[in-house]
Amino acid sequence: MGSESDIERILFTESDIAKRVSDLATEISSDFLRSSADAVVFVGVATGAFLFIADLVRRIHAPITIDFIRAESYGSGTESCGDVRISRDLKVDVTGKHVVLVEDIVDTGKTLSHLISYLEKKGVSSVSVCAFLDKPSRRKVEVKLVGSGKFYSCFECPDYFVVGYGMDYAELYRNLPYVGILKPEMYTK
Ligand code: 5GP
Ligand code: MG
Ligand code: MG
Repeated sequence: MGSESDIERILFTESDIAKRVSDLATEISSDFLRSSADAVVFVGVATGAFLFIADLVRRIHAPITIDFIRAESYGSGTESCGDVRISRDLKVDVTGKHVVLVEDIVDTGKTLSHLISYLEKKGVSSVSVCAFLDKPSRRKVEVKLVGSGKFYSCFECPDYFVVGYGMDYAELYRNLPYVGILKPEMYTK
């Protein structure tokens, strides 16, 4: 387990990703151009968003701060149960700041909704969401943004369990440079 032969099909290639991330970074840069220095904090949701945030922020041409938060939810291997717990808090003080939450994938929406209300309690000015993938067909909870926050995503993802470009199954496959559908026999016995 953990090798490229476990991938059934590639959904987004390395070059699809590079092009789309670059275009999205341009869009976000222009949206935040008017924000004063130090007012925008990009918060990556660890671990899944690590490659996405790295590729994204180096193309943002505006002064920003970067931090990570870790959220865990307990459930079966391929589905989050919604019982979300923050296991690594922010270092940066986000009070009064514009936060861009950077996530690998929005599935049921439970993880993001929990993180957004957590940030809201810290008194942020706004929360935007920048999700690499969005699986709208699986949404169970509406993702409500804060203040002037916007929802960005790179690609809509069909209802498959995907890995690569930061996303894992059992902590494997995160290093794949593309996004692929994992063979179901890898997680169903
Ligand atoms: P949600 O709370 O929106 O249901 O799911 C949140 C988390 O579940 C995502 O941030 C991601 O870590 C994980 N997840 C959801 N769908 C997938 C998927 O297709 N592949 C992988 N690797 N993780 C997923
Ligand atoms: Mg995630
Ligand atoms: Mg995971």
